[in-house]
Amino acid sequence: MHLFPLAAAGIASGAMAPRVRFAPSPTGSLHLGNALTAVANRRFADERGGTLLLRIDDTDAARNEDAGGILRDLQWLGVVWDEGPVRQSERADRHREAARAIGSEDAEGAVRHGRVTLLRPDGSPTYQLATAVDEVDFGITHVIRGADHRANTLIQSELIRALGAEPPEYIHHGLILGPDGRKLSKRHGASTLADLRDAGIPAEAVRRYLEELGLPRHDVHLDIARIRRLAIEAIESLGDEELAARVGVPASVVPVMRGARDLVEARRFAELVLAPPERNAVSSPETLERFRELVDGGLDAKSLVRELKAVGGDLKAVRVALTGETRGPELTAVIASLPRDELLRRVDAAASTL
Ligand code: GLU
Repeated sequence: MHLFPLAAAGIASGAMAPRVRFAPSPTGSLHLGNALTAVANRRFADERGGTLLLRIDDTDAARNEDAGGILRDLQWLGVVWDEGPVRQSERADRHREAARAIGSEDAEGAVRHGRVTLLRPDGSPTYQLATAVDEVDFGITHVIRGADHRANTLIQSELIRALGAEPPEYIHHGLILGPDGRKLSKRHGASTLADLRDAGIPAEAVRRYLEELGLPRHDVHLDIARIRRLAIEAIESLGDEELAARVGVPASVVPVMRGARDLVEARRFAELVLAPPERNAVSSPETLERFRELVDGGLDAKSLVRELKAVGGDLKAVRVALTGETRGPELTAVIASLPRDELLRRVDAAASTL
């Protein structure tokens, strides 16, 4: 059995830089627990001058989806890999060769090593076999994965020894459970990276959260409140141009997005100023009239709001006139984001409904 040349060289020199792998199955968007595994592997490699291999575990043809979603999710999260992606399905010949070397065919035509199935009767390699062979061939020194794989470790170590190699070191981390302590799933509304992205959580916040978890020894409960706080911080630290680009709106509306707690809310705030409201009926003609005068007078947004407050103006009426909503971004920011003639148009439209 030949070792991957790099690993052989490493062993010979006695100073082996670690080689780790992240090995997701191609199942749509990355599950949050797998994202934790990916981040932990990247950090482990970075801290030790090691190498991260991305391997796609696609031995289960029936369940396979396109791996594209997983690659995009990793890129979104900012997890880069040094080698791969290697698809296990592309290495089936090598896996079959290894299976025949360490296993024997049973009555049904499957190839087994002891109780472990290596090849199904149709000749397709199993996850256990492919994984054992790939750890050896790619010189993997440390396998870092979720505690749900503990039972596989015994099986895979045994196969690796049968292949004539030393098993890597196995490190298992606790799983991310739902806030209710049950297996994290769709039911919890935030089980995949796609869920968090759709909820407007910036990638930086998700990455920070996963880095904070590190390599949990025990299972942890998903802390949505913590993720939301990190999202606010991440949005605060985005530059104006970057925030505008993320949300896909012109930089002129950045001020209204500044108080947003996530990127979905940021978009909603931006849209309030980008298009005039459909309905903005209000009932404070004096306030609107005063507002009109102040805008005509060329006052800046801050002074304008201060003036209205000083005369006991109905600020909510101004907000509704400008955005059609009773709540939303800071009124000063809304006023500052709209050109003078647009302010007047919206106020006049509201006044005409009186
Ligand atoms: N493909 C497996 C999964 O997605 C991981 C396999 C492994 O790390 O050995 O859960």
